[in-house]
Amino acid sequence: MHVDEVLIIGAGPAGMAAALQLKRYGITPRHFEKARPGGLLWNANCVENYPGFPQGISGPDLVHTFIEQIKGIEIAPEPVIELSWQQELFFARTPSNTYPARKVIIASGTRPCLFTGFPIPDELSPNVVYEVAGLLNEEGKNIVIVGSSDAAFDYALNLSRKNTVIILNRGERLKCLPLLWDRAQAVQNLSYRSNTVIKKLLVRPGSGMIVECSSPQGPAEYQADYLVGAIGREPLLDFVSASVTEQAADLENRGILHLVGDVKNGIFRQTAIAVGDGIRAAMRIHQITEGSAHESDCFHR
Ligand SMILES: Cc1cc2nc3c(=O)[nH]c(=O)nc-3n(C[C@H](O)[C@H](O)[C@H](O)COP(=O)(O)OP(=O)(O)OC[C@H]3O[C@@H](n4cnc5c(N)ncnc54)[C@H](O)[C@@H]3O)c2cc1C
Repeated sequence: MHVDEVLIIGAGPAGMAAALQLKRYGITPRHFEKARPGGLLWNANCVENYPGFPQGISGPDLVHTFIEQIKGIEIAPEPVIELSWQQELFFARTPSNTYPARKVIIASGTRPCLFTGFPIPDELSPNVVYEVAGLLNEEGKNIVIVGSSDAAFDYALNLSRKNTVIILNRGERLKCLPLLWDRAQAVQNLSYRSNTVIKKLLVRPGSGMIVECSSPQGPAEYQADYLVGAIGREPLLDFVSASVTEQAADLENRGILHLVGDVKNGIFRQTAIAVGDGIRAAMRIHQITEGSAHESDCFHR
């Protein structure tokens, strides 16, 4: 039975950074990505807090630099559908095979919190989305975004370049950075409604999707080609079996299981943090693989 030294789940910034650092140690991880390398960054309008890009950089452009940098590292385009632990080995099951590994880095990021409180008619479900990477080529559409966080405003600024966008906030409190709010206010075809709660989605012949809402001014309705949810995200760990979760603390202490990036960072979901986590996990893995022979080096390469 072939056993991999390291297996990485997810090729967003955290997983790619881990792979890059492992490569520097001559360790070739088995690496799985269920969608496409880059992760959530494909949705980011302008990343202004990632060092090295003083003018800021779009999420997709930043992904291209990451992909350029990890050229030569193989990433298998498959989901890990189950991760289990038995007899001192991890087993990652994909639709095509099961891969044993000694150490695992989970860099699976987050999944969106879904709309609740109103049914989504089947015929509208393709137009109700939680990420915008697939909408970036849309033009002249009406788009309703729900949320008040950085992501909601980042989505809105991105999509309002070529479309008309309304942001609905069910409450009054804004959770986004003040600079995003200021930018949004300067965009003509981007508007914002507070205290506006979606009650119903319906299809009206000739108009498509109608978003029916309650608001302090009374009922309101919006025609929408797309409804975008930006109402929070939660760790994506649905593939991790009880045999791992029950022993996670011990496996992490031993340095053979690492959760890196957004999957474990709560509100601190930022690219630079995810990248740092990935590098750190790879260094720790190298450290326990090699022993502490180089502990006194100034720089651990
Ligand atoms: C609109 C928006 C704007 C943003 N703007 C900024 C910003 O300006 N600055 C900043 O620093 N950050 C920003 N971020 C946050 C940044 O995108 C994330 O912090 C970063 O992408 C997290 O990286 P990650 O690798 O931890 O997770 P992710 O990027 O979520 O990557 C996880 C990867 O794992 C894959 N995966 C999941 N489960 C499996 C599985 N079972 N098998 C195989 N693959 C799997 C996913 O497909 C995904 O590719 C923004 C995010 C959004 C949504």
